[in-house]
Amino acid sequence: MPTAELIAIGTELLLGEIVDTNTKYLARQLRDYGVDLYRSTTVGDNLQRITTLMKEALSRADIVITTGGLGPTVDDPTREAAAQAFNTHNEFHPELWEQIRQRFLKRAMNISDNNRKQAMIPAGAVVVENPVGTAPSFIIPQNGKVLICLPGVPREMEYLMQASIIPWLKNHFEMSGIIKARVLHIAAVSESKIDEMVADLEAMTNPTVGLLAHPGVVDIRITAKADSEQNANEMIEGLEKIIRQRLGNDIYGVDDETLPLIIQKLTEKGSNPIKVILGGFSPETFKGLEGKNLSIERVEPSRFSQISISDLSLQSPVFSCLYTPTPEHSRIDLNFSYPNISDTMTREYMGAPGLREEWAVNFCLSFIRHQLISKVYQEEKNDPG
Ligand code: ATP
Repeated sequence: MPTAELIAIGTELLLGEIVDTNTKYLARQLRDYGVDLYRSTTVGDNLQRITTLMKEALSRADIVITTGGLGPTVDDPTREAAAQAFNTHNEFHPELWEQIRQRFLKRAMNISDNNRKQAMIPAGAVVVENPVGTAPSFIIPQNGKVLICLPGVPREMEYLMQASIIPWLKNHFEMSGIIKARVLHIAAVSESKIDEMVADLEAMTNPTVGLLAHPGVVDIRITAKADSEQNANEMIEGLEKIIRQRLGNDIYGVDDETLPLIIQKLTEKGSNPIKVILGGFSPETFKGLEGKNLSIERVEPSRFSQISISDLSLQSPVFSCLYTPTPEHSRIDLNFSYPNISDTMTREYMGAPGLREEWAVNFCLSFIRHQLISKVYQEEKNDPG
């Protein structure tokens, strides 16, 4: 598989005035086409620094893609840097100049002599015409490596990438590979415990397994590189099966699935109306949880015990979740009651104050999900009437 580096050019990127979405887009594209991205760098509009960076990147990677700095002003030094990086000069392309002139004419815009600069392309480069903007791009292949310079405007860059660069790369590099990823979500189990359970899998090289911890939730990311999408999927599925054997029901969802969504799906299938009583949580929490068979009631923490006790007499499942933050830690008191079953759980969390409520919400949702799976829908199966 070829390797790549990305260079985002623009002082405004370094100053934080604009967000670098080009790198994100290109990184995804390269991943999908099976190119290994090793490094991405941001550099200001400085000829010397861009030239050095291009040379360094080309010494490491097969494919180097830059975005930005192809405009007509002195602040747009990409084409000059590219020429210097390859020890060559820029050549004037009359046909590109004509295209640029026509574009300005069509839009009744004034063209200045500066714009001639955009018709200058490093000698030996393959010209990539730009029908959606004024700055033509170019590709400089040399000794099995390539420098590709694309405009900074995201719409133009994305168009040229799809229309010209990907097809060119496919013709010149082994790009039959594909990289795919799947994320498994687990709640209410600590990262260290999960780490212990999948430690041997984390040492694998393809597919790879990585952990990412959020408050109350841990993600296991499985990534596979293969020569086809089907093979990558098969590799992921094989490993997912092993992880599921170890973690079982603790895995609540895959990729975009969230705990509220999963609980909603569960309760929609069931026949019982479920009630969730919340105390101490901010109003914007538990979004997306309510559904056809699930209602939420928020109460003052001071009234919490009375209300949840009176609800115990109901003939349908009731969950109560009380969140108590203190300066030292956070505490949740969870209760589940159903006519013949009840369960309680209390947990404390000492993590960073800003993360405590998110932890508490995830822990509550995980408690609800587990009780629904193991008690409520289990009960309904045993006693459908
Ligand atoms: P043009 O000739 O159209 O100006 P250019 O190649 O010279 O193209 P720049 O002048 O560097 O591009 O950038 C033009 C605009 O594109 C910037 O003002 C910014 O809005 C956007 N842009 C540039 N680089 C990025 C980036 N990495 N991510 C997102 N937007 C970007």
